[in-house]
Amino acid sequence: MIKLTNISKSFGRHQVLNQIDLTVQKGEVVVILGPSGSGKTTLLRCVNYLEKPNDGEIVIGDYSLNCKHAGKKDIHQLRQKSAMVFQQYNLFKHKTALENVMEGLIVVKKLPKEEAKARSIALLEKVGLGSKLDAYPSQLSGGQQQRVGIARALALEPEVILFDEPTSALDPELVGEVLAVIRKIAKEGITMIVVTHEMGFARDVANHVVFMDGGVIVEEGTPAELFNNPREERTKQFLKRIT
Ligand code: ATP
Repeated sequence: MIKLTNISKSFGRHQVLNQIDLTVQKGEVVVILGPSGSGKTTLLRCVNYLEKPNDGEIVIGDYSLNCKHAGKKDIHQLRQKSAMVFQQYNLFKHKTALENVMEGLIVVKKLPKEEAKARSIALLEKVGLGSKLDAYPSQLSGGQQQRVGIARALALEPEVILFDEPTSALDPELVGEVLAVIRKIAKEGITMIVVTHEMGFARDVANHVVFMDGGVIVEEGTPAELFNNPREERTKQFLKRIT
C-alpha cells in the first residue's frame, strides 16, 4: 500500500500542493487527472523525492518517511521502492535498449551481468521489443523508446510504478501501443499511479481516479463515479471541457 499524508509543496511563494492525502492499495491503478498546472506531476515526483515535499509523510509498503526529517539515507531507501516512467523517456542515449534495461539491475539490484541480461531480454520481449535489443534510442520510435522505459521500470520490481504523462510526447499513432503495454502490466496486478490526459485509458484501466485542481484533490472515486456522476462543480466543468 502507498499512503501519502498531508503532502505540501511550494516553489518559492507558490504553493503547488496543499495538504494532499492519498491512499493507493496494492495492485491498484490510480489515475490522476486535472487541468494544466494543478500539481499532478509535482505530486507524482514527490512520491519518489524528485521533488522534496515541504511537509507530510510518505508510506510505501513497509517503509515510511517523514518529509520534515528525512535524511539522505531515508531518501535513498524510499527511492528503491518506486520506479518512474517519464514523459520524455529519459533513456541513456549511448546505451542500447538492452543496456538501458540492464543498467538498473546491475547498479541498483547488483545482479550478475548474465542474470541481468536474461531478465532484461525477457522484459523487452514482454513489451514487444525482442527484435530491438541492440538498437540505440535514436534508432527507435517514440513509442518504442517509451516501451524501453517501461521495461526498465519493471526490471526494478518496485512496489509502485509512477507514470508521468507517458504518452503525451508521442505522435498520436504511437499512443495506442504504449497504452496497450501499460494495460497489459496493469492486469498483472502491478501497483501504478498514472498522470495522464488519456480519458479512455482512465475509464478502462483505472481502479481509482483522482481529480486535482489548484494543488488539492477536489474529488476521487471509481471511474464510473467520477466520469458518470461527478459531485463537484470543478470536476464537472473539467470533464465538460475535455470530453
Ligand atoms: P501539466 O498537466 O501541464 O503537466 P501539472 O498538473 O502536472 O500540469 P505541475 O507540473 O505539477 O502541474 O505544476 C504545478 C505548478 O507548479 C505549475 O504552476 C508549475 O509552473 C509549478 N512548478 C512545477 N515545477 C516547478 C519548479 N521546479 N519550479 C517552480 N515552479 C514549478
